[in-house]
Amino acid sequence: MVVDEIPLERCHAGYVTYLDYASVWLTDSNMDLDVAALNAVLRCGACFSHLIAPTTLPCGHTVCVDHPTTTRCPVLHCNPHNGPTRPRIPSASRVNYLPPPALSNSLPSSVSDAPKVDVTINKIISLLNGLQDNQQPTQSSTTRPRSHSGSPPARPRKRQRVLDPDSDDDENNVDLLSHLRRLSPPRDPTPSFAKELLTELSCEICFMLLYNPVTTPCQHTFCAKCLHRALDHSNLCPLCREALPGFSFFEDHPVNQTVETLIVTAFPEMYTERAETIASEERDARLDTPIFVCMLIFPGHPTVLHFYEPRYRLMLRRCLEQEVPSFGMIMPPRNGEQSSFGTMVEIRSVQMLADGRSMVETWSTFRFRILERGTLDGYTVGRIERIDDMPDSPTLGLTGPSNTELMEMCTEFLQQLRRGTAPWVVQRLQNVHGPPPDDPAAFTYWVALILPLDDYEKAKLLPIRSARLRLRLVAHWIEQLNSNWWFASGCVVV
Ligand SMILES: [Zn+2]
Ligand SMILES: [Zn+2]
Ligand SMILES: [Zn+2]
Ligand SMILES: [Zn+2]
Repeated sequence: MVVDEIPLERCHAGYVTYLDYASVWLTDSNMDLDVAALNAVLRCGACFSHLIAPTTLPCGHTVCVDHPTTTRCPVLHCNPHNGPTRPRIPSASRVNYLPPPALSNSLPSSVSDAPKVDVTINKIISLLNGLQDNQQPTQSSTTRPRSHSGSPPARPRKRQRVLDPDSDDDENNVDLLSHLRRLSPPRDPTPSFAKELLTELSCEICFMLLYNPVTTPCQHTFCAKCLHRALDHSNLCPLCREALPGFSFFEDHPVNQTVETLIVTAFPEMYTERAETIASEERDARLDTPIFVCMLIFPGHPTVLHFYEPRYRLMLRRCLEQEVPSFGMIMPPRNGEQSSFGTMVEIRSVQMLADGRSMVETWSTFRFRILERGTLDGYTVGRIERIDDMPDSPTLGLTGPSNTELMEMCTEFLQQLRRGTAPWVVQRLQNVHGPPPDDPAAFTYWVALILPLDDYEKAKLLPIRSARLRLRLVAHWIEQLNSNWWFASGCVVV
């Protein structure tokens, strides 16, 4: 069912909430929750009896809170498998991904000292207990099969049994209320119960059905991706504000097996639909090129970047799920003017740090122009056009010095720098970027990196599609620098 099919009267001022959608879905799908199956899920992995005061461990197992859990999980053969939170790096990717420094998934001592009760599972146990309480008199008074069609949604939390006035009744003393009750359809609490169950199984961050549910040591459960995004901003639990162990603790965290099984048992179709929606959202997120607004960079050079802003941490995780993880890099806007030209960079290596920041080694590949730009989850995305050099026209070579002469002039300038006040600058450039390239196209970028000019001036190289024109621009800058320095000190250039 799609949201368009929701009757208009169910929409609030045109805005359809997930629960609006879900409640229609629950009613229309004529679903019948298998309460016995749900109860079967709610068993302790250690003592196999019904969970009492459940607590969920970092391995994803839920056990009664009074089992000793400080040293290890009491579930036999506990062998936690990896969680869904680490980026799924495709096998074809050449990225060298280094996870954060090893941290065991054991509970931090402050948490393990006083295990808490899993909030979600505990509420569901109460919900099921309430349902059983409500069903008791119904089952004794009717044998009609369950049917949702036409029956008004019941309210299991209103304990009708408490209000039942016919506890002393006999067949000859039937008051109006009990008479009406007998005429009414059997009290089937399922649609309303399903809605309440869905509410309990919804994530408090995205307000949708939990997907890959991960439980924090404070025993709150969120979608793995939602928790990761919350941790990009803060190390506090989004719900109770308790300090969480940190990003790396949840980097590859197992899901809460009990909650996931409850979801798959109660709402299998909705869970599949949710998985498909998330997958398609992630696909859509990769359609446009992510743009990192950071600095000037030219093709053919390595750069090490520090990712710490929440929006770029998310961007990086999405990039890593591509076969060739890459993003565009442009300079920050100046005087309100956005940069339209930038350079694509390929991610070569990622070192995750324990707090979720990362150091990323990249290699810049080609220049681009942004044709259209937008924003996705806080970062810039764009439709881009690749910029490549055109073959230089023969007329360009006829005027002025030849390419070789221009390159020699640049090299001479670098020699002057080396002999002058900052020889280390040239040395450092050579250490990082290697010797000057022979190819005039690459040479222009190599020289531009070292020139003591404003980066916004250097960025003028990006749109130029002729290596010769770029070379002439670089030579022009050098001429200007030479004459300015001559006038400034008269003797800087020896
Ligand atoms: Zn137990
Ligand atoms: Zn375990
Ligand atoms: Zn969520
Ligand atoms: Zn919490």
